[in-house]
Amino acid sequence: MSTPSLRLPKYSIGVGDRFSLQGEAQLQACFSALQQGVEVTPVWNKSNREHNIIGSEPFQTRRATQLAVETSEWPLPYFLDADHIGLETVDRFIEPCDFFTIDVAEKIGAPAPPDSVSEFTNRHPELFKEISLGSLGVILRPSREQIENVARKYLTAVSEAGKIFRYIEKRKGAGQFISEISMDETDLPQKPIELLVILAAVTDEKIPIQTIAPKFTGRFNKGVDFRGDVEAFTREFSADLAVVAHAIRQYDLPDNLKLSIHSGSDKFSLYAHIREAMQSAGAGIHLKTAGTTWLEELTGLARAGGSGLNIAKEVYAQAYGKLEELCKPYATVIEIDREQLPLPEVVSSWTSEQYVDALHHDRNCQAYNPNLRQLLHVSFKIAAKMGERFLDAVKSNEEIIAEGVTANLFERHIRPVFLSR
Ligand SMILES: [Zn+2]
Repeated sequence: MSTPSLRLPKYSIGVGDRFSLQGEAQLQACFSALQQGVEVTPVWNKSNREHNIIGSEPFQTRRATQLAVETSEWPLPYFLDADHIGLETVDRFIEPCDFFTIDVAEKIGAPAPPDSVSEFTNRHPELFKEISLGSLGVILRPSREQIENVARKYLTAVSEAGKIFRYIEKRKGAGQFISEISMDETDLPQKPIELLVILAAVTDEKIPIQTIAPKFTGRFNKGVDFRGDVEAFTREFSADLAVVAHAIRQYDLPDNLKLSIHSGSDKFSLYAHIREAMQSAGAGIHLKTAGTTWLEELTGLARAGGSGLNIAKEVYAQAYGKLEELCKPYATVIEIDREQLPLPEVVSSWTSEQYVDALHHDRNCQAYNPNLRQLLHVSFKIAAKMGERFLDAVKSNEEIIAEGVTANLFERHIRPVFLSR
């Protein structure tokens, strides 16, 4: 596979912008990194699901992004990610996007035909020999049977990814876009050996992916910290980095291939471990954050008080009443304990400070409520329905919101993941 002409730099961050108003504030965070000598490439990701919920179109994201880039005079590459698309949903993203996250999680486990499984294992005898994963000292010794089982589980998903990739390539042209494969929105995490088999299969399909998003061990819930065994995650993550490096050497894959971490915002207890593992492997990553920016919009409104606070309260009250509906599309990536949600009547009497304390992600604050934060994370549909009223409130509190958006992205995400040593 030749290296695609569009190339994703080593460090990149997915920045979501539900209402397309925070592009400049988000770019300021990348400028801050640049001032410290580190290039972190912004990639605006917005999924088909998100566009459907809001009622927006990908070309609007392109327009808003371009405007933000021009106004801010951002001098380096940036991309627009058609996040979690499939064959049925990709069409409206083809023109405005130059990054495609091909989501084949749904096809995982659809048993591959026996013929293709045996063809695959015959083609890849290197997979059931001893595989030494470089400096980590990890040695994998899968049996043929094990590889066949993994292949049976993933080959259908990878062949679907191939179909989607070729569909996009035919329309955009070879090398004119960045491809990612995502398998994160599923029930079970992928082990390093599974990742390796997937990458071998991706090579067979000739998909020049530059990022791959596996499902990691533990819970990556939206907008809140990691829940699970941090050490187990760290071991697995290091092994995954080694698998990617091994696959680049072994197979014909782009040499900048890296891991993509979905639902990557707010995983504060992991960032130091991610950074250390990444730096010792000499690897890069793509960190996807999206809703954390929308939550900053809401926090800013609450902080502003007056009508801003009232809107924030109204969003909560409506979200509380529509919990089921709002949570359904995010079933694999949120966990809300309803018992811990305050009643809307209680929230309606809150001061600015009380609302902000409950929502702001500060694990040391007694009043911080991760259940409320997750519910608000998925409640942007309510804000979208408010239409101009919500957008006007955001615009008239632009300064206080932008400050929060930039600080959240830079101080709490970019700095701990990409900068500190
Ligand atoms: Zn995702």
